[in-house]
Amino acid sequence: MARNTSNWESDFWYSLSRGDGVHYPLYQDCNYRKQQGWCWDDYQEPVRQILDNARLDERANSLPRHEHGNYSQLSLPLELMANKFISDSNIHCPPVPDGLVHRLDINRELEIYQIPLKTVHGAAWYCTNRWVVHLNKKDTHQMKRFTLFHEAFHMMARSKFGIDKHTGAHARGRFIEGMADTFATYVLIPTAWAKEQWFKSRDVATMAAMFDVPESVMWFRLRHLGLV
Ligand SMILES: [Zn+2]
Repeated sequence: MARNTSNWESDFWYSLSRGDGVHYPLYQDCNYRKQQGWCWDDYQEPVRQILDNARLDERANSLPRHEHGNYSQLSLPLELMANKFISDSNIHCPPVPDGLVHRLDINRELEIYQIPLKTVHGAAWYCTNRWVVHLNKKDTHQMKRFTLFHEAFHMMARSKFGIDKHTGAHARGRFIEGMADTFATYVLIPTAWAKEQWFKSRDVATMAAMFDVPESVMWFRLRHLGLV
């Protein structure tokens, strides 16, 4: 990927491609981390457990409250991408339809299958000109939606990094998984809608139902925005 493209989107994918997939590639120099004295990347494990719907009550206080406008230099372009995707799709209120995922790569077919999976929520594959996403049949409808847009991030990354590359340091790892989770929360719960609805309802369960997402995902997003 060429470094001299000035576009924020290319810069985002470039930064990601330079990392090892496990750690936040801009950690050392990130101004957001320096400002707030901590980095969301240090909290990957509690975030994962919260998003996984496991032990939310126990885990809720393990995540620091967010006081600044953003969480890392890479979350800003990621959010812009998600917002652009939503506005280009002409969606103006929650819930974001599942079918939107088909618009992410308009050049290739996407097949979605629900099968019982043992340890994961889902997976995305590329085979002979089409994407295949597996969702865990045992998950709730809301968790499947979250997984679908998580896998959508992996599809986007594969498209950028080289669709035929099955491996690569940046393609897998704790940090990339966190990016995929974050992308899914940005798409399903855009900031403007989250704030608007929060000031009306101030109730996590009500908002989770309105946005059709797991309560744990809604809680995380509101925490991320400093609202809870
Ligand atoms: Zn993943």
